[in-house]
Amino acid sequence: MNLAVQSFNPTCMINLESLVTTIPDFPKPGIQFKDITPILANPQAFSQLIDQMSQQVKLSGANLVVGLESRGFIFGVAIAERLALPFVPARKAGKLPGATVKADYSLEYGTQSLELQIGSIKPDNKVAIVDDLLATGGTALAAEKLIKMLGGKVSGYFFAIELVALEGRKHLTNGITESVMKF
Ligand code: AMP
Repeated sequence: MNLAVQSFNPTCMINLESLVTTIPDFPKPGIQFKDITPILANPQAFSQLIDQMSQQVKLSGANLVVGLESRGFIFGVAIAERLALPFVPARKAGKLPGATVKADYSLEYGTQSLELQIGSIKPDNKVAIVDDLLATGGTALAAEKLIKMLGGKVSGYFFAIELVALEGRKHLTNGITESVMKF
């Protein structure tokens, strides 16, 4: 079985940014919401995006992928499957059964908590944190806190989209930070 990351042909690359739509004032006034559903609806575009993100995760030396609820699951599961790595979901408070660790964070819109199941990360895990979008970096930092509580290390932070002006990447200091689409 060939587990190498699929390579893509640069001559027929899709312009992924052009597929992302911006919805003003959603879910709250003042938020310019980036809608990735047109990429999910385009198999070639989604495959190209997962190829690129998988290459970045592979280069980081990760041996496990944590996806952040909920859109981080879409990308995280696809990357983990592509690289034959284990996938662990970081879920919103109260969603995971059994004993968990919890971290609070504030979002570009509102506050939230994330949890990981105790035992889901081991001390020998180098974890790729995967989410759809990097805004302030608070969500990824909460995930990092949980991974460290369980004794794991972070290999990097991986996003489909980065809102560059919010400078979230300057808070993410324990591994490489990669994003495919920058706005
Ligand atoms: P942050 O913690 O500030 O980096 O926010 C990132 C998280 O919030 C991600 O899980 C995104 O899904 C979501 N998010 C924040 N801002 C936006 C936005 N403008 N458009 C879409 N999702 C967003």
